[in-house]
Amino acid sequence: MSERKVNPNEVIKYRKKNPCFSGAEIGRHFGISSQRTNIILKEAGVKTTSTKWGKSTICPVCKERKAHQSAICGKCYKDAHNVPLICDQCGKIFIRQQSQVLTAVKNGQTKVFCNNKHKGQYLGETHGFRIHPENRSKFGGNTPKVDQANIIDLFKAGYKQIEISDLTGDKYATVHYTLFKSELGKKENFPKVR
Ligand SMILES: [Zn+2]
Ligand SMILES: [Zn+2]
Repeated sequence: MSERKVNPNEVIKYRKKNPCFSGAEIGRHFGISSQRTNIILKEAGVKTTSTKWGKSTICPVCKERKAHQSAICGKCYKDAHNVPLICDQCGKIFIRQQSQVLTAVKNGQTKVFCNNKHKGQYLGETHGFRIHPENRSKFGGNTPKVDQANIIDLFKAGYKQIEISDLTGDKYATVHYTLFKSELGKKENFPKVR
């Protein structure tokens, strides 16, 4: 399909008469494409863009107000540079800036998380103390180990929780929690018992 024949001088004259028209608008007037219009104008050294170009304060993407000089608004520009990812912990889709993702990949990161809490949960589950208890002393050295069997024995021996706390040096809450989590905690009368 060949395009209509058109006198370039007419196009140039029309452009000069209508500086605010876009290439597409001029093209439509002559029945030619905007690309062809631009080629004609460019060859003649005439401005191809409309004087209105970049001056609209409405973003063409979201139809919200934007800064005068930018082609699209800041939010849409940002959106274009955001990528959707799936959290490796909770499976939810979240949005992150492309540049951040690229940096993470460059740093050898293979997992992504929607927030630091989920990152922590994931690391805890895969590298945590439950799986590698030998690391506990390295990282949690100041947490004294609770002798749960001892607490349970003392409770069975008739000591009250507050007394066990005094005897073992564990916090009352720790004693209570230990007993509550033990088979004793499943008794209906616990923790009212003592
Ligand atoms: Zn926008
Ligand atoms: Zn998550």
